[in-house]
Amino acid sequence: MVKTIEEKIFLIKSCPDTESHIKVNQDICTICTGKECTKFCPANVFAWSPVNNKLIVGYENCLECGLCTVGCPYGSIRYEQPKGGFGRI
Ligand code: SF4
Ligand code: SF4
Repeated sequence: MVKTIEEKIFLIKSCPDTESHIKVNQDICTICTGKECTKFCPANVFAWSPVNNKLIVGYENCLECGLCTVGCPYGSIRYEQPKGGFGRI
């Protein structure tokens, strides 16, 4: 039986590092009006917190698709492949 995208994503296993492999420039994110990252990331890694006035980066859920290296219209996201055996396994 063919698996749905959601079922395939559920099967991806990862070992998250203790430090994020994704950094954002919060100064830029604060004034960004579109918050496009909260829409294009397939793993919903990015969430805007109006209470804290900052972008929350849930890097532990990252699928390492690389979309955020080109998706942010302001170049705020710095993405590095997880190292040292962390990340997708
Ligand atoms: S990462 Fe890019 S798209 Fe997302 S809030 Fe920051 S500036 Fe906006
Ligand atoms: S690499 Fe893909 S899954 Fe990971 S944060 Fe970027 S867009 Fe989201």
